[in-house]
Amino acid sequence: MKIFDTMQRRKVELETIEPGKVRMYVCGPTVYNLIHIGNARPMIVFDAFRRYLEYKGYDVNYVSNFTDVDDKIIKAANEEGVDPAVISERYIAECKKDMSDMNVKPATTHPQATKEIDGMIEMIKTLIDKGFAYVAKDGTVYFDVSKDREYGKLSGKDLDEMMSGLRDLKVTGEEQKEDPNDFVLWKPKKEGEPSWPSPWCDGRPGWHIECSVMSKKYLGETIDIHAGGEDLIFPHHENEIAQSESASGKKFSRYWMHNGFLNINGLKMSKSLGNFFTVRDITAQYDPMVLRLFILSAQYRQPLNFSREVMEQAKASYERILNCTDKLKTLKETAKGSEMTEEEKKNTELVKGFIQSFEEAMEDDNNTANASTAVYEIVRIANATTDENSTKAYVDYVYDVIRTLCDGVLGVISERKTEDLDAEVEALIAERTAARKEKNWAKADEIRDRLGAMGIILEDTKEGVKWKKA
Ligand code: AMP
Ligand code: ZN
Repeated sequence: MKIFDTMQRRKVELETIEPGKVRMYVCGPTVYNLIHIGNARPMIVFDAFRRYLEYKGYDVNYVSNFTDVDDKIIKAANEEGVDPAVISERYIAECKKDMSDMNVKPATTHPQATKEIDGMIEMIKTLIDKGFAYVAKDGTVYFDVSKDREYGKLSGKDLDEMMSGLRDLKVTGEEQKEDPNDFVLWKPKKEGEPSWPSPWCDGRPGWHIECSVMSKKYLGETIDIHAGGEDLIFPHHENEIAQSESASGKKFSRYWMHNGFLNINGLKMSKSLGNFFTVRDITAQYDPMVLRLFILSAQYRQPLNFSREVMEQAKASYERILNCTDKLKTLKETAKGSEMTEEEKKNTELVKGFIQSFEEAMEDDNNTANASTAVYEIVRIANATTDENSTKAYVDYVYDVIRTLCDGVLGVISERKTEDLDAEVEALIAERTAARKEKNWAKADEIRDRLGAMGIILEDTKEGVKWKKA
């Protein structure tokens, strides 16, 4: 299993601390409003990666946090005149709903920053004791980057260069920093802000410390994989490494995985630019599985451009998968024979070839783009090689392969929801009735055939068209 490690800047073999076990941490969203589909990208691509590891028999301990104390949350709370916890709890619930709609497995643990303050104070104390952090006059605690000789190793930034660039820069409120590159571990409270007591001042943590602390608490001092969007490489992940490794004296994470951006017209989708669609916007128009297929249609490190056109393509691909499983399910009900025919046995060899391509793709740095293509090939074979004469053994086999790879690993639910089926059948019947009114018999027959392929039998009665499942 190969993954691209941002730290080593190349693809490397995954070797976990404990054989058969993976400890993985994925930085989660800041919860101040609904997540956009750019935020959904890390959730989906690393969920597919986790599912593949589980398919291979790994036991994955998967931790993903919610950042629930932050300037933007406080601002949103002040605007609504409510407590910041009201905002963060609301958007954690909304985010979990989006994740569930997108079939993202819940993490083993979803820690929240505000519930881990004690651990943060502990780690900051350790950093001060070891001489990696200092307390300014106003009670702010800064991490002293000059004490960390390895600072910059993830992002490849050179501290001297950064210093000369920043020397004259003074950020308001941070005048007491000894070096412009130093970053905040703890800061004093301001009026109207949530705060916690600490040995230095009543205040709140800086952003980076939460992930160091939660990762350590739930996964241990050294973990296997730390992941997130590529915008987190610097400063967030660089600072997490500085904090964790200075505090423990041990390597923080063996591997670093970063997803590329979801763009729109070539620009990163982001809340600040306003060029975003929330997951909710998209799922109001498309099945969430179409969004999931779209996100998995690119290798996770590549930029992915959002457009209606590619969403329509993903929709058509998804429809092909659903039609195939509709057909297989109908055949399963009547098919007989527990022994495959010779021809069917040959076909299973073809399918196995694509299972192998699927696995090779996933083991080549989580290449879900090629893995999806392998699934489409299996769907094509399943369509072409099954009919009423197929044995139950063969139909069951291809059906199970699709459910295992598509649903199990890619996380794309390949079974049409019953209410969707009802709606689709009703829509097709209405279309057929309209075609008959226009005396467009060819179209009416074509629709009847399509419904037939879905296992729907029509009956023209005096009261109108009735339908049932074959
Ligand atoms: P945030 O709430 O901004 O901290 O983002 C949560 C996660 O979404 C982080 O892993 C970000 O790197 C990721 N992310 C944000 N915007 C995008 C985007 N346009 N494309 C891909 N990932 C993104
Ligand atoms: Zn983080």
